[in-house]
Amino acid sequence: MPRQLFVTTALPYANGKFHIGHIMEYIQADIWVRHQRMQGHAVDFVCADDAHGAPIMIAAEKAGKTPQQFVADIAAGRKPYLDGFHIAFDNWHSTDAPENHALAQQIYRDLRDRADGSLIETRTIEQFFDPEKNMFLPDRFIKGECPRCHSKDQYGDNCEVCGAVYAPTDLIEPYSALSGAKPVLKSSEHFFFKLSDPRCVEFLQRWTQDGRLQPEVANKVKEWFSVRKNPDGSTSEGLGDWDISRDAPYFGIEIPDAPGKYFYVWLDAPIGYLASLKNLLESAARITRPTWPTRRWSSTTSSARTSSPSIRCSGRRPCISAAARPRTTSSCTAF
Ligand SMILES: [Zn+2]
Repeated sequence: MPRQLFVTTALPYANGKFHIGHIMEYIQADIWVRHQRMQGHAVDFVCADDAHGAPIMIAAEKAGKTPQQFVADIAAGRKPYLDGFHIAFDNWHSTDAPENHALAQQIYRDLRDRADGSLIETRTIEQFFDPEKNMFLPDRFIKGECPRCHSKDQYGDNCEVCGAVYAPTDLIEPYSALSGAKPVLKSSEHFFFKLSDPRCVEFLQRWTQDGRLQPEVANKVKEWFSVRKNPDGSTSEGLGDWDISRDAPYFGIEIPDAPGKYFYVWLDAPIGYLASLKNLLESAARITRPTWPTRRWSSTTSSARTSSPSIRCSGRRPCISAAARPRTTSSCTAF
C-alpha cells in the first residue's frame, strides 16, 4: 500500500552559511526519501530558511542591509552546496514567505477566538530596554557580572563560568551588548499562549502517549508534564505558559490587531514547515512527480530537469533556487 509522506529537516537559521551539521542531516533525510520512493511511496521533501528574529535584524543592521536583503544574500549561497551533495529537496521556502505570515496569523486567531475560551492572554511584563538603541533587549544581548561567582561579562540568562541560570535582572552591573549603555527596566504588554491550560495539557498528553511516538521519545516527553526536582536543585513545574510576542523593532510577523507587536520567531518557525509544504502543493508550476525509477537521481542529471528540479523556485525572494540560500532547532540561538 503506497504511503503519502511529508518529510522535512530542521530549518536552518538564515544568519549564516551551511555548516557540516546541516549537510549531514540533509544527506540522511535525502537517503531516506530516496529509499521510500524506491519502495513506491510518494514523498514531499521540503525545507526553508528560518528567517526571523533579533539576531538577523541586528546582523543585517551591522552589514548595512535590510533584514530581507540580508536573508536573501544568505539564501543565495545555498544552492551550490545542496547540488554538490546531491541533496534534492522538492521545495525550499522561507518563514518570511506570505504563506507563513497567513498560517501563523490564522493559528493565532483560532487560539484567541476559541468558543470555549481563549487560549491567548495578555500580561504586562518588565524587561530591560536599551535607551540608546531604543529597543527591548533579548537576554543574550544583556551582559553583566554573574550574581553567583561574580565573573564579568556573562550573558543575561546564564553564566558560562559557573553554570548558574538566572534572570537578566539578577545580573550585577548589567549593560547592553549592543550599545554598552546601562539598560533600564520598562513595562510592556506581552501575549502568552496558555500552554498550561488543562485543554492543552490533556491534548498533548494524549497525543504524545497514544502509541504514535516511538517508546523512547514518548518516555522522554513525559518529563514535560511532571512536577519534579531536577539534579541541579531547580524544580520543573510541568508545562508553562509561553510568551509569544516581541516588541518592535523586530524582524518577524505582525500579531493581528496588536500594532507594534510581533510573533516571537519560535512561534512562526515551526509553522514554516507547513508553509513550505503549502507553497509546494499550491504551486501552479507543480507537476505530478513520478516515483522511482523515472524520478531524477541527482539534481545535476538532465533527467532531473525533466521530472522535477532539485529545488523549485517559487518566484518569491527567499527561494533558494533562483539564486543561492539555514538553523537547527537544537542549536538555535534565535529570539
Ligand atoms: Zn557565575
